[in-house]
Order: sequence, then C-alpha cells, then structure tokens
Amino acid sequence: MFWTRELIARNAPIRRRVTPDRSPVQDRAVAAYLGLAIGDALGATVEFMTPNEIRGQYGIHQTIIGGGWLRLKPGQVTDDTTMSLALGDAILGCGRVDALAAAHAFDDWMRAKPVDIGNTVRRNLISFRKTGNPEAPASEHDAGNGAIMRALPVALACYGQPENQTRIVQRAQAHVTHHNVLSDVAGEALTLMIQDFLRGEEADAVERQRAASLVAAHPAFAYDRKRCDNPGGYVVDTLQAVFQGFFATENFEDCLIDVVNRGGDADTTGAIAGMLAGARYGLDGIPARWLNALDGYTRMRCERQAEALLSYIPLQSQSVLGG
Ligand SMILES: [Mg+2]
Repeated sequence: MFWTRELIARNAPIRRRVTPDRSPVQDRAVAAYLGLAIGDALGATVEFMTPNEIRGQYGIHQTIIGGGWLRLKPGQVTDDTTMSLALGDAILGCGRVDALAAAHAFDDWMRAKPVDIGNTVRRNLISFRKTGNPEAPASEHDAGNGAIMRALPVALACYGQPENQTRIVQRAQAHVTHHNVLSDVAGEALTLMIQDFLRGEEADAVERQRAASLVAAHPAFAYDRKRCDNPGGYVVDTLQAVFQGFFATENFEDCLIDVVNRGGDADTTGAIAGMLAGARYGLDGIPARWLNALDGYTRMRCERQAEALLSYIPLQSQSVLGG
C-alpha cells in the first residue's frame, strides 16, 4: 500500500484531549481557585453599585463582561485574585508561609501597578517599605476584607496540617496588611471552612461548626437577621453577605449570582463566595460559560498554583518567620 500523508494521518493513533487526572481534593482545590477568579471577574462589573442600580442596568447580573468602575476587559480580574497569586508564589518560592516573603511579594505586586488596591493594603505596604517589618501595627480601624480575600493559598498550602498551624500562618499573612481581631477571626474561619469543603464535608456541618462558632465568639458576624445588601469593605459585612448567599443556595452558579447582585464590594464578596463554592461543588459545578470567559492566562495560573500549593510540603514545621 502506498502511504499518502492523508492515510498516515488517518491511521495515526488518536490523540486524546489531555484531561488532568485529578483526585477529588485536587479537583475541589482547582475549582476553589477558579471560583475565586470567576467571582472577582463577575463581581467587579457591579462593584460600588446598589442592588437597585444593578437591577436597572442588568436585570440580573450574571455574565462576565468586564467594565465597571475599573473599566476591565471581559474576564479580567482585580486585586483579590492577583494578590492571592502573589501570596501563593511567595509560599511556593520559599517553601513555607513566611510573612517577610509575603510582604516582599505584595510590595512587588504594588510596584507593578495593579488595577486596584485597597487603602489599608497600600498604607501598610508603604510602611513596610520604610520599616522592613512585615507585621502591620494593630489597628481597630483596619477591619477591612483585604486580608481574608487572599486566604485561599494558605488554605491549600496548609491542607492536612494541624488546625492551629493553619490559624497561625493565616494570621501571619493577614498581618502584613491588616492587623485586626475581626479580620483575624474572619480569615481563620474562612480558611478552615475551605479546608472542610476540600475534605468533602457537608455544608450543614460546616455551617454548624465554623460559621456558628465564629458568630458565638463574635456576635457581630451574625448573618441570620437582616439581609446584607450593598456590603462595604468591612469584613463583618463581607462575611454576612457571603454566608447568606452561600448557605441559602445549592449550586455554584446560584451562589455567585446571589452574592454579586447584592452590589457593594461585589468583586471581593464574589471572590470569597467563589472560593467557598468552588471548594464545595468542585469543577463540575462551575458553568462552562464563566470558565471560558475568564482571562486565559489567569485561568492557567490559578489551576497550576492550586495544584502546586496542595502538593507542597512545608520545608519545616516552624513555618512562620517575621512578625
Ligand atoms: Mg478587587
């Protein structure tokens, strides 16, 4: 038989589309990172809008179209995702969660002129440049959501380690920019909740154990009373809006639509709801239209970093330096 190019091609072994063979935990970890980025990209369009303004302009906002006050490209993310990636790179780069390495990574991130940056983050990073101390001074005014929005890399890197270790290192990364007790307890609860969902725990149990104990210790976080619309950057408002939307819905899509249509700090509430919902429902739960709309480079970075952080083994058990 005379083999033409066409015949050779036709008889070549079928190339399967490469689908990474992920364990359930890896699947949920990747989904959590993509959920963070999707919630950020979806919410940024309506950041600082009220629910009424959103209704008037979009009906129900549910498409990743960019725009918003930052004039983003469709699928572009903001500081919530890019600071998380910077923190994750710092963890992987030095083999542990190191406050000083995190501070340098955030400082480099700020020098690269990110699309947006929170006031508390900026102020405390500028003071880090002057003092070299990666722990911001304690302040009752620094109860913004800027440290908890980057909790995911710690949740992944500390997965399987003792709970107390997760709390310590989450606090260490948070204190680079936000040294505040409400930010601390919110960040610890969020990080541990993500780990619960990675383990495959049910939402009811996680709500009873984590959200309820946060509220019991700090009643300001109670989220069962008044609907939290138009949540600001205050970490209490943020978690109230996220918990209301997250625990009242039964899939990834409904959760994100509920949360971002509350407006306010919608990119950050979207990012936090997205990381929780991704960890809870896994990759199959994420609508393809959102996954495809996400900026391709960001998507690749999130997927790779999620896998790397999950398989990372700390260089030493004493994993916090600085402070
Ligand atoms: Mg943002």
